[in-house]
Amino acid sequence: MRFLISVIAFGALSSACAEQPIACPPAQGVAVQVLGSGGPIADDARASSSYLVWIDGESRVMIDTGGGSFLRFGEANADFLDLDFMGLSHFHADHSADFAALMKSGNFAKRQRALSVAGPGGSSRFPGLDNYLTSILDGSQGAYGYLSGYLDGTGGLPELKAIEVGDSVSPERNLLQGESDDIAIYAIHVPHGIVPALAFRVDVRGESIVFASDQNGSNEDFADFAKDATLLVMHMPIPEGAGDGARQLHAIPSRIGEIAAAAGAKSLLLSHFMARSLANLEQNVQLVKTGFAGDVETAVDLYCRSL
Ligand SMILES: [Zn+2]
Repeated sequence: MRFLISVIAFGALSSACAEQPIACPPAQGVAVQVLGSGGPIADDARASSSYLVWIDGESRVMIDTGGGSFLRFGEANADFLDLDFMGLSHFHADHSADFAALMKSGNFAKRQRALSVAGPGGSSRFPGLDNYLTSILDGSQGAYGYLSGYLDGTGGLPELKAIEVGDSVSPERNLLQGESDDIAIYAIHVPHGIVPALAFRVDVRGESIVFASDQNGSNEDFADFAKDATLLVMHMPIPEGAGDGARQLHAIPSRIGEIAAAAGAKSLLLSHFMARSLANLEQNVQLVKTGFAGDVETAVDLYCRSL
């Protein structure tokens, strides 16, 4: 299976751009790896949303833990001990469902160092990060209360340092981690229907990786947030002719191109595909390119790109 995935990844990469595939993770430098390039429907042979940022061969940052990311995390040879930061963009299952599975796996890592986990504040319809963690990890109420040591660093488990980004914080940019570290990580709220959602920006060694998450593209501040990104990862689950309901949740291909151009991104990685956006992928990519002149690549699971 690992071999098969590698072949698929190589094939898609070869057709998407002229760059040669790299060994992932590279021993030195910064790289982004896609753990899940699929959407919420199990019809595309892809894991749901999940990404890693590798630095000098260590899996330091993980964004989203959608269904299937547990498997891909292992296939990528990522290490729970190396993680400094996990960002959960929102609490749709295709972005967070494997979080508990990854915590269970981490239970065996003998990690002591605390782990930062960031996510949005809640609403009447969706939990915020704090309530999400409680709902699965609380010792008496949580679905997996036997892992409650993650909440306070007891029982041989590392404490999860929860960073909930609520509506009361800056609408433009929030520093979640950094300044004294070698990585600076920021978040901004992005419009995704009624769902509180975050995009993340990871600045490291002069490179900037922006994970746009699910959004309809109507937040004008986002282009500034993503300014001059080395790599902008945007989700393209719907085609240009999608109906109003889908457009409340996601940006159509032409809007994705406009956003990437407004941000001045160096390159754009399209991901989070559903069958309906894969059906005419080349056509959808061309629509993106009508507004954006930089490099455009399409993700597959385990795709890896050095920066
Ligand atoms: Zn999604």
